Amino acid sequence: MSTCDRCFVVRVLLALAIVLCATAGYAQVQPRMTPVLLAVQDAPVPFVGSDGRVHLVYELWVTNFSSADVMVERVEVMGDGRSLQSLDAAAIGGRLQAAGQRESKGKLAGSAVALLFLHVTLAPGVVAPTRLSHRVTLHADAAPPGQQEITESGGEVAVDRRAVVSIEPPLRGERYVSADSCCDASRHTRAALPVNGRVWLAQRFAVDWEELDDQGHIRNGPQDKLESYTIFGKPVLAVADAVVVSVTDGLPEQTPGKYPTNISLDEADGNSVILDLGQQHYAMYAHMQPGSIRVHKGESVKVGQVIGLVGDTGNSLVPHLHFQVMDRASSLASNGLPYEIKDFQIAGQTPGTKAFDEAEEKGTPLAVTPLSPVQQVKGALPLDQLIISFLVR
Ligand SMILES: [Zn+2]
Repeated sequence: MSTCDRCFVVRVLLALAIVLCATAGYAQVQPRMTPVLLAVQDAPVPFVGSDGRVHLVYELWVTNFSSADVMVERVEVMGDGRSLQSLDAAAIGGRLQAAGQRESKGKLAGSAVALLFLHVTLAPGVVAPTRLSHRVTLHADAAPPGQQEITESGGEVAVDRRAVVSIEPPLRGERYVSADSCCDASRHTRAALPVNGRVWLAQRFAVDWEELDDQGHIRNGPQDKLESYTIFGKPVLAVADAVVVSVTDGLPEQTPGKYPTNISLDEADGNSVILDLGQQHYAMYAHMQPGSIRVHKGESVKVGQVIGLVGDTGNSLVPHLHFQVMDRASSLASNGLPYEIKDFQIAGQTPGTKAFDEAEEKGTPLAVTPLSPVQQVKGALPLDQLIISFLVR
């Protein structure tokens, strides 16, 4: 090839490269500062809530990679390119929690990491998207004057399409309360814990089941007596045919009404059982009575089989059943998964967590708003603060 021929070939290749770059849009991309980095660690699994709607519950990780405060002003959740939900500054202020903090605020300090706890409810008839992304508008104090208002996109993730496990109820009877259930109660949904080198949300879909007597009392009798609590001693049931993978028993009852102190991590669940439901789904039951657990590690259990009795052991304030489903056989180092209970009835709604806590503490009746007629639900996750019956039919 002569020198001239070589020049010609190079010119053609260059021209081709320019055309290709322009086609791919590279020619328009200008580097710009994105002081906040966005990511989703655990993609949401869409599920049906007891309101009949599809819900997506997950955390957007927000890293302030600048030296000064960032105010997160607006977040738009995009599903397959269209807007699913917009959060304004007030909504963000109630959902953004810096690492290790229990309080939320919309301002993120320089160099800090936070989780934005997202709960997207799809309108009826809207199909769950296949991909999510997030458009975030923020004010970055560290940016030069006039350039502090920034809009970025990120946190792209494919929605997790694994099948939602369908289970029978963990209890039988009437007037159970789904306390601290999905999707905006902070005690479970926001329990992000650094365990074994990773942040896990094992309790993302956990419920603390309580029960009302026919007068509406969670407790009727002295606060420090286990027997005062309506749910105390109720049989706890296998939610599916399963294999027992873990049993803890022999831990003593706590004194109700007082948070126990000096509870070690491995005693936090109290007397507990983990069942392998198959397909990488595990069910965990916590805080049962000492000596009440009737199953052994390695044993196969049948749906509806009694596995223990409701108690007040481990890190527990009052007798209740803590129940959750997760993707590994660990109550802490696992990812909390949604599930759907095959058949239940919603008889009413409480005024909320604050009223519930007060009724529990004072032993006063909970002011329930009854639902008339009672709502029959098939195949859904019981949402927060509902009065639920699991009747044998
Ligand atoms: Zn709990």
